[in-house]
Amino acid sequence: MTVTPALPRLPRRIDIREVGPRDGLQNEETILSTTDKVQLVDALSATGLTQIEVGAFVRPQNVPQMADTAEVFAAMQRRPGIIYSAIAPNVVGARRAVAAGADAVQVFLSASESHNRSNVNMDVEQSLSAVADMAEIVRSAGKSFDAVLSVAFGCPFEGDVPISRVLDLCARLLDLGAGQLTLGDTTGMAYPTLVQQVVLAFHERFPRQPLRLHLHSARGAGLANIFAALQVGISEFDSSIGGIGGCPFAPGAPGNLCTEDLVHMLHEMHIETGLDLFALMECARMLERMLDHVVPGQTIKAGVCKHLTG
Ligand code: ZN
Repeated sequence: MTVTPALPRLPRRIDIREVGPRDGLQNEETILSTTDKVQLVDALSATGLTQIEVGAFVRPQNVPQMADTAEVFAAMQRRPGIIYSAIAPNVVGARRAVAAGADAVQVFLSASESHNRSNVNMDVEQSLSAVADMAEIVRSAGKSFDAVLSVAFGCPFEGDVPISRVLDLCARLLDLGAGQLTLGDTTGMAYPTLVQQVVLAFHERFPRQPLRLHLHSARGAGLANIFAALQVGISEFDSSIGGIGGCPFAPGAPGNLCTEDLVHMLHEMHIETGLDLFALMECARMLERMLDHVVPGQTIKAGVCKHLTG
């Protein structure tokens, strides 16, 4: 069989941050025990991942699924070379994340007012007002401080989000001390040409600033959006094991992009990930047992294409 070389204009290697333990489990009805969460993070740590989002430091009454994030950090087996991160919406959360031993903390806010209010009960300016202090807390502890901008490709309440607004908020976040930026398609409203427009506009305005994308697949466009992003040079993505974390605004629709489906596609394209596809699939199957339901990921159902098995 002939082997097709990687297309020259695509990145040769992709960096994946696994967000299942946070963004996935946060949107699951079943609340896993701390023991199960630790087992999941430990299994993910053995797949070759270099970045795992372990949990969130938010109010437990708002997000009970994340109430034991500090306990998960305390009990998991840290592997050298892996960045174990957490998200936090404010100064209190940032302090808790640092105290728990997070290697990196991401503040998250939304590109639209209505989504920010529904998500963290603050307007965007209130969210931004905490960012400088959060940066100081996290950086002075010697950890990385990054930002995630949600609904950057469309808002379920407001519809289109102007690219100029997304870029202006990115500029504010960078001024306030964010290291890396992630743009989130939080409810799966992106499509390939929009992804390319946003990325190209971002690179024009911030030529030296790396950019990570957090894509969803609520309307099935997730992997097409990945390919669109690869074509304009993006090489850092978030994804969720098993594709867990359905879209809260669309019951039954898939949410987060599935890690093992993404890795399967990239390996088919001869793009390196450093990840063990079969170990990831074992994690997805373990998760099905823990959650007691089928996960949205397709590769564990369809199987691995033959030439990737050798
Ligand atoms: Zn997500």
